[in-house]
Amino acid sequence: MNLNELTIKQAYEGLKNKEFTSVELTKACLNRIKERNKDINAFISVFEESALAEAKKADEMISSGKQQMLTGIPFSVKDAIDTLDLRSTGAAKILDNYVPPFESTVISKIRAQGAVLLGKNNCDAFGHGASNENSMYGPVANPHDLTKVAGGSSGGSSAAVADHQCIFAIAEDTGGSIRQPASFCGIVGLRPSYGRNSRYGIMPMASSLDTVGPMTKTVEDIAILMEVIAGSDEKDATTVPDEVPEYTKNLNKKEKFVIGLPQEYFETDGMHEETRKLVENKIEKIKAHTELEVEFKPVSLPYTKYGIPVYYIIVPSEDSSNLGRIDGVRYGMRSKEAKDLYNIYAKSRGEGFPEEVKRRIMVGTYSLSSGYYDAYYSKAQKVRTLIIEDFNQAFAQVDLLITPTSPFTAFDMNGKINDLMAMYLADVFVSPSAVAGLPGISIPVGNDSKNLPVGMQIIAPRLGEEKLLNFASLVENV
Ligand code: GLN
Repeated sequence: MNLNELTIKQAYEGLKNKEFTSVELTKACLNRIKERNKDINAFISVFEESALAEAKKADEMISSGKQQMLTGIPFSVKDAIDTLDLRSTGAAKILDNYVPPFESTVISKIRAQGAVLLGKNNCDAFGHGASNENSMYGPVANPHDLTKVAGGSSGGSSAAVADHQCIFAIAEDTGGSIRQPASFCGIVGLRPSYGRNSRYGIMPMASSLDTVGPMTKTVEDIAILMEVIAGSDEKDATTVPDEVPEYTKNLNKKEKFVIGLPQEYFETDGMHEETRKLVENKIEKIKAHTELEVEFKPVSLPYTKYGIPVYYIIVPSEDSSNLGRIDGVRYGMRSKEAKDLYNIYAKSRGEGFPEEVKRRIMVGTYSLSSGYYDAYYSKAQKVRTLIIEDFNQAFAQVDLLITPTSPFTAFDMNGKINDLMAMYLADVFVSPSAVAGLPGISIPVGNDSKNLPVGMQIIAPRLGEEKLLNFASLVENV
């Protein structure tokens, strides 16, 4: 096995037992990036020099007995997350030269342990998309088939992990951006509960939905990372004060589970038969596994069908406000064509944002404007409450929900980019729980006949990550 193919746990053990150094591990990842980036395009920036310097420092920490779980482990970060003194573009040209003077809390926590930051992952610009084709730095190809998309918006992160260009990645999920690309690339990705991890330093998209979470090769690695990154933060008032559980200690633990199967998630239009079958096969295997104490129950989430419409009113509305700060004056590149104040705004934003971002800003401005607010934004918020109540009712009967992560596997490059509704509907199974602020994980359950990975989503009640991760660890290899 090549060093870059290791999990966090394996890399930690190898470093501890002096089987290799962090410099060797980091070089293995950097070589893989060099070899593959022209085909896959998972990285917008690679920080070779600083990564090697960090690895050297990590080796010193390890040899002086100061190794922590992430010391010396190379990782990458979605480019919509700010990294101190290191270029962070959000995959939009307007921030092409943006170097943040501060760092997001979750990345600071990881780097404080001596992890090695390899570079920044390509994504849909500011997280807007489900295929990674809305990046102004080119699309990301799926490592399993270069003619297919990697998923989005965190396609660069999922491709980098799946292709072993890093040991793990940190990304953002507003309405599916960690889970859907994880499922397309055959890796594990967790969207945490709203409020569990600090969003300080995450480029804001829709503040009432944005979350930040890990993308890894195993459930155990997710638990390891959550122990490091979760917790309240005075810089993000939406974080909850609840203590962070010892997620790793609670893995593979015998426990009884009642699992809900929401019928609406198995019978949607456009669902691929093979995808459904693979998820159902996994459920059958879990049922047949005698050591697991799992009871399955059919449940109904009737408001699921409003998940996408509600999402596409609330998200653009919040977006239109959040993205207002990136205007060529306070932040970002200024258009060379701009000769007066109006054009500084108009041309800088016109040139610096891709189509989809402009569309969201316009839709959001419209639905927040006087006369339309009640008909759109305010109504969407009311339906959002119904969606939350739907989940509450289900969780009164069951511990967790299982659904496919996506109705289909990775689609063709250019396959949906000109069909807006089709692209938005790609998130049909991942956006309702995001609207409700719930945690969800995607784990791989096998490949279809085209050899493309299929993901299964497990959703938990808010702050139910402990039980969620235990269940995921128990069924991961069933
Ligand atoms: N595909 C969704 C969107 O375009 C999800 C984005 C996200 O989670 N960042 O809004």
